[in-house]
Amino acid sequence: MTHPLFPPTREAALARLREFAPCAGARYAQSRNTDAGPDAPSAASRLSPYLRRRLITEEELVSAVLSEHSLQAAEKFVQEVLWRTYWKGWLELRPSVWARFLATRDRTSLADARALADAEQGRTGIEGFDDWARELRETGYLHNHVRMWFASIWIFTLRLPWALGADFFLRHLIDADPASNTLSWRWVAGLQTAGKTYLATQENIARYTQGRFAPKGLARAATALTEAPLEPVRPVRALTAADPATPALLLVTDEDMYPDFLLTGGSSIRAATIVADPDLLWGDAARVFAASAAEDVAARLRDGLDDRVTVAGCLDAQTLINAAQAAGVDRIVTAYAPVGPVADRLAAVTAAVATEGIMVDWVRRDWDTRFWPHATKGFFPFKEHIPNILRERGLV
Ligand SMILES: Cc1cc2nc3c(=O)[nH]c(=O)nc-3n(C[C@H](O)[C@H](O)[C@H](O)COP(=O)(O)OP(=O)(O)OC[C@H]3O[C@@H](n4cnc5c(N)ncnc54)[C@H](O)[C@@H]3O)c2cc1C
Repeated sequence: MTHPLFPPTREAALARLREFAPCAGARYAQSRNTDAGPDAPSAASRLSPYLRRRLITEEELVSAVLSEHSLQAAEKFVQEVLWRTYWKGWLELRPSVWARFLATRDRTSLADARALADAEQGRTGIEGFDDWARELRETGYLHNHVRMWFASIWIFTLRLPWALGADFFLRHLIDADPASNTLSWRWVAGLQTAGKTYLATQENIARYTQGRFAPKGLARAATALTEAPLEPVRPVRALTAADPATPALLLVTDEDMYPDFLLTGGSSIRAATIVADPDLLWGDAARVFAASAAEDVAARLRDGLDDRVTVAGCLDAQTLINAAQAAGVDRIVTAYAPVGPVADRLAAVTAAVATEGIMVDWVRRDWDTRFWPHATKGFFPFKEHIPNILRERGLV
């Protein structure tokens, strides 16, 4: 069954964008921090499930918003979208932080397993927190401010390990994302900007939930967690590509489900395979969304490729070898997969299919290529580059 709040199609994403774009200026800037509840209208776009799988892209979103507002008027919104790009770039330059999160999560065990179950099931007795735990499980989505409060209460009031909280989010968010999720939890915990934590307070929660919640007994201080130094920044991965005229199979993964930028040469794509492998997704909400979105991509691709479009359930070498051989090609083209399980699997598959003489071209979007290398430090130096890059791309 598909999700009532987030129909998993590009059409639905575009419809939501059309509805939201006129509100991306002053209304967003003034009201985006307010969460009036899951059933109430929101000043936020609620586009993240679509952006996460790139059913629509950051660039399309920024372009649509800037066709209705000046950059100055929509500055706040554009910056929020660029937070997503920034986190992606930051992790891309430091993939070991993702590996470190996974290792920390896997070796963390709790003497009191019940405390973890109570937090996840919404049985802590903390007003708001319990409601949000249930909201997350039921809807697969939480407002940004709620995510901040929730993470802060998890770490500083309940004193639960941050990595288990990040894992709880990954298992339930439809937009579950290695970069945005891990780095936001690290930021709340005081690991991301060393020493700077985020403390949720009763007053702030009461104000921005319009009085729906005013939890008592929250931690009054938030001492930053610490960790071993991070590894040095690596450059954005260099890519080698074959001649674009070489006939190819198009591979669409759930990391980028709007492959039109790979079809511009058009004639070299002979067939397409779409894979949203459930083993590479964390929770049922994301799995259901990605599986339906895969059917949506397939339907769109069939317009040009007819019956040469297949949807596969597993991202593995044999599936791709069979698909490439059926299409009579020895080249596969796919959108670049950023740090995360799909990238890891794709790297293994790329090596495995090479032994059969098939090469995989990973193609990165220009948006990422332009922005990611600037994610070397904090968001503030990164954001200095935004106007210039938007100008270069003809968006302002
Ligand atoms: C603890 C925590 C965990 C999070 N986990 C995720 C996650 O797994 N996946 C995810 O996509 N986002 C995550 N976020 C970021 C943010 O909360 C969501 O992207 C946002 O709430 C999505 O709602 P929206 O589309 O209505 O946002 P809007 O306010 O309408 O913003 C538009 C878009 O900008 C981007 N954006 C906005 N705020 C942020 C932000 N703080 N960080 C990064 N991108 C942002 C998103 O792509 C969003 O769709 C997390 C934030 C926190 C504090």
